[in-house]
Amino acid sequence: MSEYFQNELVKEILSKYRTIWSLSHALSLMEWDMETYMPREGVNERGVAIAELSVLARKHLLDEKFIELVDRASLREDLNDYERGVIRVLKRDIEWNRKIPESVVYELARIRPNAHEAWVEAKRKNDFNIFKPYLEKIVDLVRKVSESVGYDEHPYDPLVDHYEEGLTTKKVDELFASLKLKIRPMVDKITREGKYPKHHKLEELAYDVNEAKALINRLLNLVGYPEGRGRVDESPHPFTIDLGRKDVRITVRYEGKDIKRPIYSAIHEFGHALYELQVDENLEFTPVARGVSLGVHESQSRFWENIVGRSYGFIKLIYGDFERTITSVRPESPLDLYLYVNTVRPSLIRVDADEVTYNAHIIVRFELEKMLINNEIEVGDLPELWAELYEKYLGVAPPTYSEGVLQDVHWSGGMIGYFPTYSIGTLLSAQIKYAVEREHRKSIDEILLAGEIGAIRNWLKERIHRFGSTYPPNVLLRKALGEELNPEYFIRYIEEKYSNVPEF
Ligand code: MG
Repeated sequence: MSEYFQNELVKEILSKYRTIWSLSHALSLMEWDMETYMPREGVNERGVAIAELSVLARKHLLDEKFIELVDRASLREDLNDYERGVIRVLKRDIEWNRKIPESVVYELARIRPNAHEAWVEAKRKNDFNIFKPYLEKIVDLVRKVSESVGYDEHPYDPLVDHYEEGLTTKKVDELFASLKLKIRPMVDKITREGKYPKHHKLEELAYDVNEAKALINRLLNLVGYPEGRGRVDESPHPFTIDLGRKDVRITVRYEGKDIKRPIYSAIHEFGHALYELQVDENLEFTPVARGVSLGVHESQSRFWENIVGRSYGFIKLIYGDFERTITSVRPESPLDLYLYVNTVRPSLIRVDADEVTYNAHIIVRFELEKMLINNEIEVGDLPELWAELYEKYLGVAPPTYSEGVLQDVHWSGGMIGYFPTYSIGTLLSAQIKYAVEREHRKSIDEILLAGEIGAIRNWLKERIHRFGSTYPPNVLLRKALGEELNPEYFIRYIEEKYSNVPEF
């Protein structure tokens, strides 16, 4: 047991926790396999296995003796920060699981693989009705989760708090209310000034998948994805999964056209992976050995994808590699490549959206989810409302379900309440940029061009990653950045970046 954990009660808790950790390790591997290589027809058996193991893990967590140990430890005043973190995370987890009936846990776990399969097929065939009955069941179960956990103000509250400790529907409402007013004017201004293009001709070009893979490998090497502690696979929806600190895997999706999509999605997932990879080794096998919340997690992926990946410095760094590796898509110059990866326009697909319009995609999903969980609308209303809200916030409407309501994997996994964390992360990523620059007295561009990308990784490790879930998100942010989430940094970042095109 690591030196961070000295308290005898905490040590006993951690030793019992090993079983839960191992079950969650196995579940992650099964999840990864399900979304990558599992034969399609294995889906039903996988559903049963995942549900049974989830219920088993829950039994260990809710074991009376285990809870008693955690309760006793929570009364101790001599615990260090790491020990307190372990107890905080376990108490949260116990509370959540204790309130939700086992049958709901089982049913949700049981239906997810089948729902995932149905979603893949529905999206491929552009047929919402294939997915609809599964989504109805899932929404019904998630409504039960919310009712079981309970809330003071809004049934969506327990769901957002589950993904982002301390977040409430009201806080998201307030955040989005001001953001909503700023997105359209920012996009209009950028479009009017015409320095950044709305479209780029390279977006229309097919690429060679093997070349794309080769470039992605080089780029992952450049940003520092460590050999031997992860792997890159393919899946219908890109994701990162940590089996532990030393096995953090990412996936990429190759659609064959518009090479910036797989490139930036790989850099995005790398940002998630790096968080897990840089958690302090002393926290291994404990409940705090992973990223603290999905918002903070997403700040890491968005930071690497946008703040680093779409910067002048990064394009300067990678242009040679791009030119040498990719013969199927030829930018005319570094400036041309920079403009290609920084087009700005209202679009249909969230994961491919530019950083200026991105949050509008999240606002649409948040509004729909909130109404869904509050029984104001039903699953059958989603396609039409989706189109209406896209028209309202982005001025575009999807011609197909695949490019609309079926585009994201999350609902098939029961992940409702998750989307707001994408905006939290996007806003935070800009806040992190200014914090890194303040401390280094250099811009991100200057750091990259000085060959000091490792200094960025190290800053993230020291300020954020190494703590895992030791501190709640807001405490971590105050320690790392000197303040909690402040959306003004994002607005400033967009205004600064898009008012000028750098000289190459
Ligand atoms: Mg992400």
